[in-house]
Amino acid sequence: MGPVGLFPLWVLLSYPDVLLAAPAPPEDAPHHLPEPGRFWHITDLHLDATYHLADDPTKVCFSSKGAPAIKAGIYGDFLCDSPYSLIQSAFTHMSQVTPRADFIIWTGDSPPHVPAGELSTSMVIQLIRNMSETLRDHFPRLPVFPALGNHDYWPQDQMPTSTNAIYQAAAKLWAPWLQDQALSTLREGGFYSQLARPGLRVVSLNTILYYGPDKATANDTDPAGQYRWLEATLDNATQNLEKVFIIAHVPIGYLPFARDITAIRQPHNERLVSIFRKYSHVIAGHFYGHTHRDSLMVLLDPDGEPLSSIFVSPAVTPIKRVLEPYSNNPAFRMYLYHGSDFTPLDIWQYYLNLTEANQRQRADWRREYVMTEAFGLKDLRPQSLLRLALSFQLPRANSFDKYFSHFMVSYDDSIHCAKDCKLSQVCAVLHLDHEAYSQCVGGRGVQDSFALL
Ligand SMILES: [Zn+2]
Ligand SMILES: [Zn+2]
Repeated sequence: MGPVGLFPLWVLLSYPDVLLAAPAPPEDAPHHLPEPGRFWHITDLHLDATYHLADDPTKVCFSSKGAPAIKAGIYGDFLCDSPYSLIQSAFTHMSQVTPRADFIIWTGDSPPHVPAGELSTSMVIQLIRNMSETLRDHFPRLPVFPALGNHDYWPQDQMPTSTNAIYQAAAKLWAPWLQDQALSTLREGGFYSQLARPGLRVVSLNTILYYGPDKATANDTDPAGQYRWLEATLDNATQNLEKVFIIAHVPIGYLPFARDITAIRQPHNERLVSIFRKYSHVIAGHFYGHTHRDSLMVLLDPDGEPLSSIFVSPAVTPIKRVLEPYSNNPAFRMYLYHGSDFTPLDIWQYYLNLTEANQRQRADWRREYVMTEAFGLKDLRPQSLLRLALSFQLPRANSFDKYFSHFMVSYDDSIHCAKDCKLSQVCAVLHLDHEAYSQCVGGRGVQDSFALL
């Protein structure tokens, strides 16, 4: 079954405006009252403090693991994690953008990709401290809502289900941003919730507890009691007429660049997806990191009705493995959300063309795209994202090529994603549970699906 066969014709005909994907002219732009809110999303900073311009390209950064970083420049290299100069330059640019944001979400992964022997618990804490303080220096007045990543532990991925030196250190370092109740659950299980503004609650989950490589939680049906806590938190939010932003490092759903692989363990994915369906009336949006790429998902109910918009933000670090066909340019983004119902309205995606920045020795961060303009959408509510995702499957639609270029943060427009690659991408956008995803990919089995034309 090819990508265009994913949906029967009646589904496409029910969304006739996907056939007219021309961007709306500015005068037709919707007026949102009250003023939209704004927040920054940064993720996967992965600071490599060893990065330096060495004569021997294999010695530029520990994170290249001996591979030659032959294009290394002052802002980094695609085989290395972020030099400090790259992170500072990103924060400096963010702090100059107007209108100002209300708050920042930061979805984890401060340490570099290096073998466990190169780090230690105290070094991981030092890296989280460095990134927290750098952020506070650049944004002294903005609240920050962090989430822990799989690299924010030593050894990496091995997050425990009870209190430990890292959860305690995070609670100390983030005390200027979080209230006592949030700090107490953070200290015990690495998760918390807090009001970001009246009526809007941020729920920061520790999804590393559900991550495959975490041996500490392998046979645990509710690690750290986070499910029980999450349902109670969402019940309370419902009663208090609040809306919730779910933030976490490892996303729910299927990896868009692989076939049949969930980002967290499959049974945990099924459980989380069912909780998120049950509480979709109170959840205004989901915001994740970890894959380092720019992607989205639409949570559908079993009848195909759109319930929630889910966003995965690309990384600040540009690192890729030697044999990976592509990477991502360094990136961060701003979300616009409705001022009273808190639904997502738009993304302003920023990026640094790393090759150009190194050549010019100057970091010109630019807006890569504005989501509603790029795809002719009126907002980023679930119905709009579903229409966009369905348009990916239409013959001659260029929306998918644009989406895939954004997926790599404009790393290389000559790389195309078709056939199996496109099928994996589109099924991952639309189907988050095992049954629906399996039907979508048509039982083709596990295979890598990079199509390099
Ligand atoms: Zn990462
Ligand atoms: Zn990660």
